[in-house]
Amino acid sequence: MPFTLPKDWPARALTQLRAKLLDWFDANKRDLPWRATTDGKRDPYLVWVSEIMLQQTTVAAVVPKFNAFVARFPTLAALASATEQDVLKLWEGLGYYRRARHLHAAAIELMRTHGGTLPDDADVWESLPGVGRYVLGAVLSQAFDRQMPIVEANSLRVLSRLFGYRNDPRTGEGKAWVWQAAEAVLPAKRCGDFNQALMELGALVCAPTNPDCAKCPLANRCEAKRLNLQGEIPPKAARPEITNVREVGVVVRDGDRVLVCQRPATANRWQNMWEVPHAALAEGEDASAGAARVVKELTGFDAEPGAELLTIRHGVTRYAITLVCFEAELRGGTFAPGAYAAARWVRTSALAEFPTSSPQRKLMSALATPRQKRLF
Ligand code: SF4
Repeated sequence: MPFTLPKDWPARALTQLRAKLLDWFDANKRDLPWRATTDGKRDPYLVWVSEIMLQQTTVAAVVPKFNAFVARFPTLAALASATEQDVLKLWEGLGYYRRARHLHAAAIELMRTHGGTLPDDADVWESLPGVGRYVLGAVLSQAFDRQMPIVEANSLRVLSRLFGYRNDPRTGEGKAWVWQAAEAVLPAKRCGDFNQALMELGALVCAPTNPDCAKCPLANRCEAKRLNLQGEIPPKAARPEITNVREVGVVVRDGDRVLVCQRPATANRWQNMWEVPHAALAEGEDASAGAARVVKELTGFDAEPGAELLTIRHGVTRYAITLVCFEAELRGGTFAPGAYAAARWVRTSALAEFPTSSPQRKLMSALATPRQKRLF
């Protein structure tokens, strides 16, 4: 079912709705670092970095990471000349590291093809790694006021409720409907502000549960409110079935140094990042015995497990992982590349220099803490 404006809306309804939403945005928008302007214009580089970071990540988590990232890489040229390891290190904690790799690769490409400028050209942006329909519309509308829609979780919810769309807007026909709706409501000017206003309204007022309709500038046109269907629109997304996984991680020591290994570029996640060896335990396998096996299989080193260090619980997509960590002493062997691309023996004080996943960062932080101060 393609999107059409409600038949009972008077001719001026859409114009009034746009004006109300923009007025609300001007009065209520959050003061976020990437919204800074110079002569009323946004910096396309800052818009782009923020939009990539904000995908799958909350504003609260992004703000400090964004500030640190643009302090280190203030321009496209600075980002393009950085190493991938430096970029991954600055991205640490945000997850979905493929975004950082794509951002870096796209910066290099823009330096090569456009001399460090970020062009007002949809064809160029579409050809860059990591730029899909959302990023394309977000960057071009905010940086260049191009009349391009965006759809993400917040605007999807607002538009579904506003027009009373009862099917699932996240899949198939529903997805096409919500993109059409986002395009139809866009004004001719201030498109970037309007796109942000829809998202901001979803974040601050039209929340997933208990939307604050009394404070909503769209309330007098909202179909979900009129029918009291805010709880049903949009339908809840099906929760993925969670699978529990037991893993063992091993801190192998050789004197005052510990072993860290680099994941290969072909890994299914955390490519090129560093970690202590870890892998899933077999059904019923003793964790200590598993620790020796995992070190041998993944690195080629022989190690004798000692004390249990700590247990870290974390989630990756639909897996709930319990990672039991052991210390072990090196007994011999040589590094065999394969499961890992590289291995290094480093002092615990140097562990902070390596880009690593969040659960591994927890483990490495614990190792860098004097034993008597550890809380496990
Ligand atoms: S009136 Fe309520 S349900 Fe409708 S858009 Fe506003 S906050 Fe959301």
